[in-house]
Amino acid sequence: MQSGDSWVVVGLDNGGNKNNATVLDASGKFLVDELLESPSRVTEGPDVAVAALVDTFEDILRRTGISRDRVRGVGLDTPGPASADGVISSKGSTNFAHPGWRSYDFRGALEKKLGLPVVYNNDGNAAALYAHYELFGPLAHQRGSISAIIGTGFGGGVIEKGEVVKGAAGMAGELGHVHIPTHGLLEPDQPVPHCNCGFDGDAESFASLTGIEKNLLPYWLTRYPGHELNRAESVAKAAKLVRAYGEAGDEMALKIFAQQAKAIGRLFTIAANFTDPDGYFLGGGVVEAAPAFRDWYLAKVRENTALREEQVRASRFEMVPHLDMAGARGAAIAALERIHTR
Ligand SMILES: [Zn+2]
Repeated sequence: MQSGDSWVVVGLDNGGNKNNATVLDASGKFLVDELLESPSRVTEGPDVAVAALVDTFEDILRRTGISRDRVRGVGLDTPGPASADGVISSKGSTNFAHPGWRSYDFRGALEKKLGLPVVYNNDGNAAALYAHYELFGPLAHQRGSISAIIGTGFGGGVIEKGEVVKGAAGMAGELGHVHIPTHGLLEPDQPVPHCNCGFDGDAESFASLTGIEKNLLPYWLTRYPGHELNRAESVAKAAKLVRAYGEAGDEMALKIFAQQAKAIGRLFTIAANFTDPDGYFLGGGVVEAAPAFRDWYLAKVRENTALREEQVRASRFEMVPHLDMAGARGAAIAALERIHTR
């Protein structure tokens, strides 16, 4: 399909190492099918990183053969914590450690440099928005969803009638830091997992690579003293291998992932009683896992989500597609939606 001469929006996904970009036309069709990455240079501070994003923007237009005057808006997503309008936390963060980032208005700075309206979302919310539009299609504006995206941390978001629920301070949908009831989830001798945010027993303390490394793996290795991973060079290295063991059907790895899936199911149960969403979506490394393992994991999440009969009929469970492009695509959708509702 030719996009003709109508207008487009550009989605820019800014990560710790890479930028990724996409173009979305006015009809809602993505003009980029592959992952196009370039260095984000965020460690060098805001000036360098904003310049790198402008390069990414120009590069994606060159590659798609779109002239600049057809771009009506830009969507930007970055890791948090940041305000709903893209001001980086005054305390900085893992990704924005350079002192120049503290309280930096990332969205405003990019808008000024590009001379185009820029719409901001954090990366979890952008991915959740993409999942929602991709999986609900034309019904997106009538549906609600919750997306749990499991990576180093636990990201995601809550979408209601096609819009990201951002909250008063921009901190809604921080699903990773929702407390999970641990009764019946932990083994009798298992310590309550700890999260970097300071909470004990929240979703991220179970369901993240960090949670496996800091909490689940150290415990489960004591239960399987003969396991090969006890001989790994470090627990950090061992944690990265747990998924491959799971795919191969290793008993201990499956216990770890079953515990994780149970925690996600309990989080979804909380969501069922809060916003009663139409869709429960799951993304992260597990999406790229072997299909049998991936299906087993999603089934475990589902069986641990306590829904009422009416909710079972009204809702669906799905994997978030194209996760590597979800941030840029979600950011672009947000920009398109802003223009459509203006
Ligand atoms: Zn937490």
